[in-house]
Order: sequence, then C-alpha cells, then structure tokens
Amino acid sequence: MENIFGITRKNLEQDFVSLGYKKFMASQVLDWLYKKRNYDVNMFSNIKNENREFLKKQYSFDLIRIEKVEEDTDVKKFLFRLIDGQKIEAVLMYHDYGLSLCVSSQVGCNMGCKFCESGRLKKVRNLETYEMVQQILLISDYVKSRIDSVVVMGIGEPFDNYDNVINFLSIINDDKLLAIGARHITVSTCGLVPKIREYADFPLQVNLAISLHAPNDEIRKKIMPIANAYSIKEVINAVNYYSNKTNRRVAMEYILLDGINDSVQCANELADLLKGVNAYVNLIPYNETSHIEYKASSEKQIKAFYDALKQRGVDATTRKRFGNKISAACGQLRSKEL
Ligand code: SAH
Repeated sequence: MENIFGITRKNLEQDFVSLGYKKFMASQVLDWLYKKRNYDVNMFSNIKNENREFLKKQYSFDLIRIEKVEEDTDVKKFLFRLIDGQKIEAVLMYHDYGLSLCVSSQVGCNMGCKFCESGRLKKVRNLETYEMVQQILLISDYVKSRIDSVVVMGIGEPFDNYDNVINFLSIINDDKLLAIGARHITVSTCGLVPKIREYADFPLQVNLAISLHAPNDEIRKKIMPIANAYSIKEVINAVNYYSNKTNRRVAMEYILLDGINDSVQCANELADLLKGVNAYVNLIPYNETSHIEYKASSEKQIKAFYDALKQRGVDATTRKRFGNKISAACGQLRSKEL
C-alpha cells in the first residue's frame, strides 16, 4: 500500500480520476494533511464516509515517529523511528533568515567517506519519499513553525536514491503542499556525476552543493572513495553543465581537516581549480567524530585558508558551527543510539 505522503498532487489526482473519484478530492485530502495538519482520515469531515473508507483501503497514512530530541540554543536534533524500526535523524537550525532543516535520504550510507560518522554504518536501505516528507511535517508540527529551507545533507547520499529524492522535492516545493521555494532547497552530493547531470535537467530551480573536500584527486581519493569512480575534472564538468543549464551558482563544500587538506597551498590549488566555474566555497569546520585520525583545523588555519581563497578572487563563506555539544554532525546521533 502506498503511503499518501509520498504521492505528488498530480499523481494523486490521476489516481482518483482513474479509480472513478473526483479529482477535487485530492485537494481536499492534501489540504487536511499539509494545511490543517490533521493526519487522521476519520476526521476528514468534508469527505463522505464511503470515500474515507476508500482512502483507508487504498493508502497508508502511517507516520514515522520522533523518538528523541536533543536541544541547544540555535539547533534541535531529532532522532526518528521509522515504521520498520530503522532510525534516522534530522537537524533543525535557527538562522537569522529562518528555520532550515537538514533531512536524511537513506538509512546509513555506502559512500564511505573516511571522516564521516554515517559511513561507519553501511546503507540498510533507501528512504521512501514519504519518510523524507514526514521529517519536515513532523518537525514543523513539533516546533509549531514553518520550515523555510531544506537541505538534503543528513544521513545518506541523495543521488544514490535519486528517484525518491526528486519526488520528494516536487512534493515539498508544491505551493499547495509544503510550499518550500525551490531556491530554498539544496541537495548535497559527494559527486555522482551522471546524477548531477540528470539533476541539471530537472525543471525545478533547486540548488546543488558538492562535497568536494579536496583540491586534487590525490587528496580526494585518500578521504573519499567516490573519487576513484569520478575524477574532480569530471565533477567540475558536470557542475559547469548544471550551472550553464540552470544559471545557478554551485556550493562547493570543503571540510577543513587538520594536516590533510587545509594548507594555503591547497587553498591556492582550489582557487585555480575553480577559475571560471560558477561556484563559491563553503568552508566547513570539521565536527570531530569517532574517526580519531581526523582533527578539525584550527581557527587560525581556517582563516589563512579563507584569506588565500579571497585573495585569489574566490567567493568563500565559513559555515556557522551548529550543535557541537549535541553531536549534530551528520550521523552522530544515530551512531550513538546504535
Ligand atoms: N552524501 C551527501 C550528503 C550528506 S553529507 C554528501 O556527501 O554531500 C553532508 C555534508 O556533511 C557533506 O559535505 C559531508 O562531507 C559533511 N560531513 C560529514 N561528516 C562531517 C563532519 N564530521 N563534520 C563536518 N561535516 C561533515
């Protein structure tokens, strides 16, 4: 049985029409779910009894559950229990420009980045579309506030679950559903080149972030196994394809790891690499994990790296640190639970 939260408005309308129901019932149902935030079909008072029975037979309205919340001043971290008992997490960040939610796309991850906590636990399965949609709905209900932006940067590699992620983007962007603006949605990938190109062809104006983390293949291969499948040059070509196609600037994420990729020489190499590329660099202070061989770069080193980029005319930002105290780095809460 298909979960109702994983169906786009268009598909639900088509379903209803093909099963002999009014197309309009889709708007009524979706209004209960996404506007009134009432998830109990029995309460859908403007829908006839027999139609409610049909809905219950045809679709699952099951919900995932918030199992644990860790709170800090500007961040809340949620551990979810899925219907089959699997655990995932999502992190809510309070920015001055609004609430931003980082959602997971898989249970575990197979990319095996050496510094990442999620990689310790291999992929169990992809998340279904409804499991991604419900992360947003249930957290929004929990904090009684609208979620302004969404980043697909939690556990998992979104482009290894491409179809469900694309479906998810269509649902949350729909202005009759969650109405999260495409410009306020970002998908982050470790660099699955064919999918970056497919994403470029996807009609919504959604943002792309690339976990680059190194200025050359030699360093990248040491910390990211995906670098053995696709060279940095192939990634950059795909990024150029995306930005030509969409006119959008790409975020290049770069974790600063002490002694690994944080020298000024690396910064200069990165600047050369990005010459002429429609991108900016998002420097990420490393959240230390159980991979004790990786340490965060010092503030001083981060500043030197940043200055070197700026000096070469590369646009760079340093990511605000969230939730160090509550183990908010990708995968840390789940990993602790398991
Ligand atoms: N698989 C996707 C999305 C999930 S990871 C990707 O690789 O982009 C989201 C981001 O968090 C990536 O840039 C990842 O490299 C980074 N990350 C992973 N572990 C981290 C840690 N301990 N500290 C800081 N950033 C981390």
